[in-house]
Amino acid sequence: MFDMKCNECGTVNNENAKYCNNCGVELKRQSNSQDFSEKLDNIGKKMQKAGCALTFVFTIPILLAIFFGIPGLIIGIVIAMIAVPAVLKQY
Ligand SMILES: [Zn+2]
Repeated sequence: MFDMKCNECGTVNNENAKYCNNCGVELKRQSNSQDFSEKLDNIGKKMQKAGCALTFVFTIPILLAIFFGIPGLIIGIVIAMIAVPAVLKQY
């Protein structure tokens, strides 16, 4: 995935290598920006997952309202209010 390319001599080392095979210089992840964008990507994916779960949670009061009218809606909202923090905590 990540080529540990030596900044000194340009040798491409093993992904997990800490020091260059050729010149022995300490290797650092070349592109921090790549790591950063990867993190952003992960956050985006998490948000997407949480969004799906939240959408599901909000359909509960709607479904209950359809089947049981206003009391169902109230119960559904209570369930959603309990479920939303639980869902958010999970992600
Ligand atoms: Zn080197």
